Amino acid sequence: MKTIMKTTFKLLLPFAFLAMAYFFYTKTNALSQPQMDMVKLAPYAIFIIGGVISWKFNRSREFFIISVMALSLAAHIYLPHLRGGLAHRSEIDFLLTLLLPFNIALFSFFRERGILSLWGALRIGAIAVQVLLCYWLLEPAQKDLLHTMGKAWLPVKLNFVTPHLSQASLFLFLAALVILIIRQVTHRSSQDISFIAVLCALFYTLHRTGDPVLYAVSFAASGIILIVSIIQDSYSMAFSDELTGLPSRRALKQDMMKLGMNYAIAMLDIDHFKKFNDTYGHDTGDEVLKLVASTIRDVTGGGKAYRYGGEEFTILFPGKNINEVMPSLEELREKVAKRAFTLRRSGRGKGGKSGRKARGSKNAKQKQIYITISIGVSQKSEKHKKPDDVMKSADTALYRAKKKGRNCVSK
Ligand code: GH3
Ligand code: MG
Ligand code: MG
Repeated sequence: MKTIMKTTFKLLLPFAFLAMAYFFYTKTNALSQPQMDMVKLAPYAIFIIGGVISWKFNRSREFFIISVMALSLAAHIYLPHLRGGLAHRSEIDFLLTLLLPFNIALFSFFRERGILSLWGALRIGAIAVQVLLCYWLLEPAQKDLLHTMGKAWLPVKLNFVTPHLSQASLFLFLAALVILIIRQVTHRSSQDISFIAVLCALFYTLHRTGDPVLYAVSFAASGIILIVSIIQDSYSMAFSDELTGLPSRRALKQDMMKLGMNYAIAMLDIDHFKKFNDTYGHDTGDEVLKLVASTIRDVTGGGKAYRYGGEEFTILFPGKNINEVMPSLEELREKVAKRAFTLRRSGRGKGGKSGRKARGSKNAKQKQIYITISIGVSQKSEKHKKPDDVMKSADTALYRAKKKGRNCVSK
């Protein structure tokens, strides 16, 4: 339930921000001229900040989308003047309605391959080709070609959707949206949802056409959405463990500081895991680690699980004492011990999660493996006043559990 709410919040956040930006836009006519000038310059400042952040965080997809947005905004505002009035703003805007959705879809589709790499250079090349193409298309000689591109290709009137955008533009926006939604469903990253929000903002802006303040506000808002998504992703990277998806040790250290007057801490360690790795290989070890972590994540009794490191886990039980958490820990230990892990003997040490299904299977190539964990638990007391002391004491209890013969809980 909590994760559903968290995910919904994450999905809605960029759109809520866009709504706020729109609200701000409707109030801009009350601004003074110097304030208005600031608003018009804001997107460039945001693009520079976004460019530096995406560069530093090595996020090439955002870096290139921000670059394309910066070039597009500059083209919309300044190109008509640079070309001595020859290039009409409507022609430039028409090209932007094609290139913006195309580039957002293109760069969101590419894998993360860095900025200062051969792949990065190829992407810069792709942008440069588009700039040259635009320059050529805006020549007076290409007026007819541009006109042909913008005409209605299908015998349907789409004016009710938007009177200003060509059918080709609408098609590209729609295609980009479909690509991004598919990516969002399959990859579930906060990156793609931010690209969808940016696409929507740009669609609305280009559909409205002509208002430089709307351009400034929506391009700035889009830049902020991309920056926030980079920070969000980096935050979750720092605070969640990559292999198991559990909160990481850093998250544990932070949450330990928030513990109140009463709490219990449990330390868990997989039994004989070194031998397991030696026998079945490190990759299978990783798969088992993920499986064990997914069981530990569902700990009951108000506990929150973390990956402490290696094959060790920690569970914090705020407001609880040892006696209250003992049943949950016993239940957890038993659940892990009973959960079968299916190993395909013929494979290269890669296992699956279909343990229970395969139980009793006659398939000779499959082997069932069972894993056990040992648990040590301690609580806040006169003797152990600080979370670090309680944790050490839980670790000592874990050592006792190992001595007792493993697959047990010790206090
Ligand atoms: P014990 O029952 O006493 O805990 O025995 P053990 O072999 O589990 O104990 P030990 O702490 O000596 O070994 C832990 C092993 O866990 C070492 C390493 O091979 C393995 N391990 C730690 N982290 C990972 C990981 O991320 N992936 C895999 N595959 N193995 C890991
Ligand atoms: Mg260990
Ligand atoms: Mg171990």
